[in-house]
Amino acid sequence: MDKDDAILSDELNHASIIDGCRLSKAKVIAYKHSDIADLRAKAILAKESGLYKKIMVITDGVFSMDGDIAKLPEIVEVAEELDLITYVDDAHGSGVLGAGVGTVKHFGLSDKIDFQMGTLSKALGVIGGYVAGKKDLIDWLKVRSRPFLFSTASTPGDVAACITAIDILSNSTELQKRLWENGNYLKEGLKALGFDIGASQTPITPCIIGEEKQTQEFSRKLYENGVYAKAIIFPTVRKGMGRVRNMPTAAHTREMLDKALVIYKKVGLEMKIL
Ligand SMILES: *Cc1c(COP(=O)(O)O)cnc(C)c1O
Repeated sequence: MDKDDAILSDELNHASIIDGCRLSKAKVIAYKHSDIADLRAKAILAKESGLYKKIMVITDGVFSMDGDIAKLPEIVEVAEELDLITYVDDAHGSGVLGAGVGTVKHFGLSDKIDFQMGTLSKALGVIGGYVAGKKDLIDWLKVRSRPFLFSTASTPGDVAACITAIDILSNSTELQKRLWENGNYLKEGLKALGFDIGASQTPITPCIIGEEKQTQEFSRKLYENGVYAKAIIFPTVRKGMGRVRNMPTAAHTREMLDKALVIYKKVGLEMKIL
């Protein structure tokens, strides 16, 4: 995308998407979070203005602060109707959804999304990232993507670790199963205690506290009692929507999660959040 183009971007997209859009010099048009009617209206306006050569829609696959999943089937429908390029940043979907392949696969849309990008640093546990798309697009990126061209390649050790992680992911769904079980267990437990866990559909489990200072204090008290879950506050999320973000993993045991829930209850009562 360049200065003659437009990018429709979900208002809750990750900071790296926002920065990437800015670097492209394209006109960035934000649409309301997962609001397909707003996306369609803005796409029609952009198209009918005749101002742009190409128009792209870009979204997180799984939104990093809330854990909800992008409405990819509807986004693809709008994209087909209005001839938009589609780009999914699947940093939080890779290894988690679609038998590990990600959000696009989860919805069976592998041949409908132009670009899928993901990281190897989250569920895969190493470092690096990937872009998947049609061969022409990938060839073009290899000669035009400045961050790719002008930075050092991954080390052999990191590459070996990535290959092994992908092998593990491809050969068994056991870790994913455990991840989802742990995520669901933690969510049910927090909900039962009376916490607000927002709109999460994935193991990312926000615990929404609200006011910024109180959120930070809550996170600090959790840590003092043995739970590490970071506070996320304005400007990363909206004012008054501060939350402690929990990242349950396949490595957590039931005992650890039970202990965490006891601590959540204790701190929640102490701070009169519950
Ligand atoms: C974490 C994240 C990234 C960055 O991934 P790195 O591997 O840390 O560079 C990009 N996009 C989204 C949506 C993320 O959550």
